[in-house]
Amino acid sequence: MERTYHVGNATITKIPELILDANTPDYLYPDWDPLFLSEHADWLVPENMDPVRTHLIQSIHSWLIRTKEHTILIDTAAGNDKERVWSPRFHRLNTPFLERLRAAGVTPEMVDYVILTHIHIDHVGWNTRRRGDAWIPSFPNATYVFPKAELEWNSNPENYPENARVKFVIYEDSILPVVQAGQAELVVPDGSEFLPGISFIPVPGHTPGQMAVVFESCKEAALFGGDIMHHPIQVYRPEWNSVYCEDAEKARASRRRALEYLADRHALYCSSHFAGTSAGYVTRKGDGFRWEFC
Ligand SMILES: [Zn+2]
Repeated sequence: MERTYHVGNATITKIPELILDANTPDYLYPDWDPLFLSEHADWLVPENMDPVRTHLIQSIHSWLIRTKEHTILIDTAAGNDKERVWSPRFHRLNTPFLERLRAAGVTPEMVDYVILTHIHIDHVGWNTRRRGDAWIPSFPNATYVFPKAELEWNSNPENYPENARVKFVIYEDSILPVVQAGQAELVVPDGSEFLPGISFIPVPGHTPGQMAVVFESCKEAALFGGDIMHHPIQVYRPEWNSVYCEDAEKARASRRRALEYLADRHALYCSSHFAGTSAGYVTRKGDGFRWEFC
C-alpha cells in the first residue's frame, strides 16, 4: 500500500505503474561524473541505484489528489495495450494500474480532473484505454487539462523530426480521443488559480510547453514538477540535464527555480520518476540543495 500524504485538507497518493532499471547514469545524464557515486552511494544504493551500481532505478506512476471538492489525477503513466514499437519497455503493456487506483478507493468514474504536465509517452498513456479497435477516455467524467503549447505542438505531425514521426501515434491514441470526446481543456500556465488550491506554472526545457502543478491548502504546499528532474541526483547536480531535455538552458533554469521554490516554501515534491516513495523535501545546503525522501 502506498503512503498517503496530507497537505492541508487534501490527501496525495501515488498510483504506481512501472519500475525502470534500464538507464545507466552516463546514458541518462551526459554530464555524469562517477565521483558522484562515491560521494552519494549511501542513499543511492539500493533504492535509487542497483546493488552492482551500474543502473539507476526509477518509477513511472500517477499522483492522486483528493480534496473536499475534487478527485484529481496528475499525469497518467504509459498505459496498457499501446503500440510503442520503438520503445519496447512501453510496448503493449499490461499492468493493473486501474486496479491500483481502485485499491486507493477511486474508480475511473470518480476522477473529475486529469492534469497533464507534458505530452510524453510515459505521462499520457492512461488517458485512454482500448475498447475493441477504438481508444476511449479512461476517465469518462473527467476534464483533461493540457498545457496549450504542448497540445498544439504535438497535434501537428509536421513538427516531429522525420525519424521520430512514428511517435505521432501517442497523440493519435492517447490525446485525440480525449479531444474528440470534448473532454480536453487547454490552459496557459500563468500561476493563476485553476481550481481551489491548484495553479500551474511554466517549466519549459524538457519540452517546450511543460507545466508544473502547485497545490496549496491551509498554508501547506506540494509541487508536481513533471520531468524537471528524472532522479534525485539532479537535486544535487541541477546543472545536469537528462538526455531527454530538449532545450538545455531553459531546462536548467526551470529546475533551479523549482528547487528554490521547494526549499524556500518547504513544499512536498511529488516527482514523476524518483523511485521509493517518489516524494520528499528539498533543503538548501551551501549554495546547493539536498534531498530527503519522506
Ligand atoms: Zn517522464
